[in-house]
Amino acid sequence: MVADGLAGLIRTIPGYPKPGIQFRDITTLLLDPAGLSGSIDQLSAALADLKPDLIAGIEARGFIFGTGVAQALGCGLLLIRKKNKLPGAVLGVNYALEYGQDRIEMHADACPPGARVVIVDDLIATGGTAIATAQLLRQAGAEVAGAGFVIDLPDLGGAARLRAGGVRVQTLLE
Ligand code: 5GP
Repeated sequence: MVADGLAGLIRTIPGYPKPGIQFRDITTLLLDPAGLSGSIDQLSAALADLKPDLIAGIEARGFIFGTGVAQALGCGLLLIRKKNKLPGAVLGVNYALEYGQDRIEMHADACPPGARVVIVDDLIATGGTAIATAQLLRQAGAEVAGAGFVIDLPDLGGAARLRAGGVRVQTLLE
């Protein structure tokens, strides 16, 4: 964890999307010019050593931070999307949610074999989304070089779970 000063720009909304959840809202961080550039600069600096060929941004907030990191590190951006959003042939992974399941997809030809890919999203909670993304990228022939998140919710154990699966994880705030 490398950042201070960003935490005050993140708003907590109780009861969204359902009762009992404390939602960490990054739209207030995005509205602040120093917050937007600072979070992307710090995430890029934390991930530079991983020398990625591609950044995999997770829909939807991961696209924002992923684009900035990809530009800063001189990489392309690979989109990890919710199901049925991509026009070409896809690879997909189903993963469990608290109630039910979800599916993420990527274009089957998006990743050259052996490419070093770094996953970027706004937040890691249980790790379900990021672990499914790592699985999907490996299925596509990528080397998952690491993952970066603006926010980690350590009580939910996702970053630890992702690390246990062999992924180097960088986060800015807890
Ligand atoms: P996980 O799969 O790790 O449980 O949840 C992480 C995914 O859900 C990320 O794609 C993230 O954008 C979204 N998410 C879950 N909780 C929050 C939250 O409190 N704030 C934000 N901004 N995103 C969240």
